[in-house]
Amino acid sequence: MLRAEGAAPVHERHLMQQWLNARPLDTPYRGDANFLPRRLREALPAIGARLDALACVRERAPGDGAERLLVGLADGQAVESVLLPRGGLCVSSQIGCAVGCTFCTTGRDGLLRQLGGAEIVAQVALARRLRAVRKVVFMGMGEPAHNLDAVLDAITLLGTEGGIAREQLVFSTVGDRRAFERLPQAPVRPSLALSLHTTRADLRERLLPRAPRIAPDELVALADAAARASGFPLLVQWTLLDGINDGGDEVEALAALLAGRRAILNAIPWNAVEGSDFARPPLERAVAFVRGLRARGTMATLRWSAAQEVDGGCGQLRARRASTAAERPVMLPVRGDGGRTAD
Ligand code: SF4
Repeated sequence: MLRAEGAAPVHERHLMQQWLNARPLDTPYRGDANFLPRRLREALPAIGARLDALACVRERAPGDGAERLLVGLADGQAVESVLLPRGGLCVSSQIGCAVGCTFCTTGRDGLLRQLGGAEIVAQVALARRLRAVRKVVFMGMGEPAHNLDAVLDAITLLGTEGGIAREQLVFSTVGDRRAFERLPQAPVRPSLALSLHTTRADLRERLLPRAPRIAPDELVALADAAARASGFPLLVQWTLLDGINDGGDEVEALAALLAGRRAILNAIPWNAVEGSDFARPPLERAVAFVRGLRARGTMATLRWSAAQEVDGGCGQLRARRASTAAERPVMLPVRGDGGRTAD
């Protein structure tokens, strides 16, 4: 779009930086208001309107330390982004998801459509109109490995013109050989989070019915190798389901799987979803799970706050709204700060 209006790479970079940092597109480059070619300058209002149409806030749902945004797309579809504490943003990579995790709202409807790279990046540009974003995690709706080209495009843009450090870009996957191969080769290599959830192959097949069939021990080895090649510790995500994967047997097996690896386990108690048979474990059981891992030398953390729960609870706002008429978009101003940013 920019090239069609005569933009050179240096102009593209400047305009992408303005968009991604929620600044007006006509922000002068180093005080030079004539930096952009005239034709491009004249096309900026129309270009800005097309960028604004990529994503708009339909609904905000404040929570305990996090805020869910229902993000409207140009074709009337909607995805969720979650504003996390300390400048984090959880973005969606697909509408719906084909993995079909039995504990996840998004997985119920299957895959509706892929998001384009620009629609992923637009979630960050939109969130930055609300507040600073220093970290982006791909843990919202969708499996990033199933939309790999668009997600890697988005990561490249966020890690360059978006100014986000690559350790603050987190690619979260249920495990996929192609993603493990491509991530270490990517121009911007993100951190890797593996949604493991159990060490038992049979249970994993039931919980994640359409995830690639890779045995948990091989999966951890593949993910660990990819994370090491990218230079970051492996993050392991574990949605705690009461009486299913929160027992001592899992603690023992998980500690053995992660022994000797540079890995951090994030235990996230499941967030209740209407009409589901799963239950959130009581706090004492969740704490015992994490303590058990630590006692065996595994680095482990527990995220207890309901509002911070994004993996496995994703898609709830969208699901609640799916049958209602489209809400009026909330128009958000770009930051008229003359080019400075607090991000
Ligand atoms: S938890 Fe993630 S991978 Fe599983 S169905 Fe939901 S969105 Fe897809």
